[in-house]
Amino acid sequence: MEYLYCEKMNRQLCFNGDYIYACTVGNNTKSNSNLIIKENYNGEPFDIEQFFVEREQIKKDAKNGKIVENCEGCHYLQLRDWDNIGTGRKIDYILISNYKRCNSRCTYCISRSDYNPKKDKDPETYNIIPIIKDMIEKGYVTADTKFDFAGGECTLYSNFEELLFLLINSGIKNIIIHSNAIIYSKAIEEGIKTGKVSICVSTDSGEKKTHEKVKGVKTYSKVWHNIKKYNQVKPENGDNTVSVKYILVEKINDNPKEIESWLKKVKSIGVKRVRFNADNDIFIKYQSSNEHNHPYLAQIIILTEFFVKRANFYNIEYELDYNIDAAYKMLNVKMPNG
Ligand code: SF4
Ligand code: SF4
Repeated sequence: MEYLYCEKMNRQLCFNGDYIYACTVGNNTKSNSNLIIKENYNGEPFDIEQFFVEREQIKKDAKNGKIVENCEGCHYLQLRDWDNIGTGRKIDYILISNYKRCNSRCTYCISRSDYNPKKDKDPETYNIIPIIKDMIEKGYVTADTKFDFAGGECTLYSNFEELLFLLINSGIKNIIIHSNAIIYSKAIEEGIKTGKVSICVSTDSGEKKTHEKVKGVKTYSKVWHNIKKYNQVKPENGDNTVSVKYILVEKINDNPKEIESWLKKVKSIGVKRVRFNADNDIFIKYQSSNEHNHPYLAQIIILTEFFVKRANFYNIEYELDYNIDAAYKMLNVKMPNG
């Protein structure tokens, strides 16, 4: 029997600030919110058996036509026969984003949107290592579980290196690190060498002035230098998987000239993979005003088509991220193949 459901609901854990979510793409739902697993969470022991029991109920409800409130309207809900998909007590994906310290001030930052650098002290956070260790020991996390480090800036998280080595030494095969690359990390370098770690850096422009406008700090040369250095690390097996990201920001870098200069810069330092996304705020703004057909979404599609054409020209592999996907879905236009 087919019913609307989304696999992220019971296969993902996103440790994000003092929440645990099922995903972080809830900006496209009716409530503009993510599916919450725990709130006010501060590293307490996490009963994962209980989590699976609750998730099973959500799946049963979905089968009976009742979608959990925070997921209503989500583009990721799919109509299919879910009964035998994602069964078993395994976590496919873990987001590590419980820390919020950062040395950058990106205009599009979601992680630090409630943070005022002038007034607030950078918050320290709980140690996530015992929770991850417990899940590995109990078999909920396996070598195939994907780990994703996102914002704040992971190199500033005091447990970062220990955690990264724990994952590598536990045989986790796919660890992606989102870093602003202001600090060069030897731990990331070692991780790249194992072939298990890939790093993604958002630079958002090939031009110094624009880069600094988006990032809010004067780190253009340092960042590109460090990306180049990471890109020169040779993994034991296979290719280096460093990638660079462009996030479209309204009225700052949302034009073909900026995209072209960025691709040129990427090519000049030898990076082979890029990702393309759009600022979350664009969606929150247009969703909340019910402007699902807002012309700016069409503009995103035009810029994406330009990006795809030019990435192909430079022979650079590309991936289109979730907010680009959302723009295509909202306007019911077929996405280019990435
Ligand atoms: S349906 Fe959407 S909001 Fe709900 S868990 Fe899936 S992706 Fe997240
Ligand atoms: S690097 Fe990431 S966490 Fe830091 S300000 Fe930019 S988006 Fe936010």
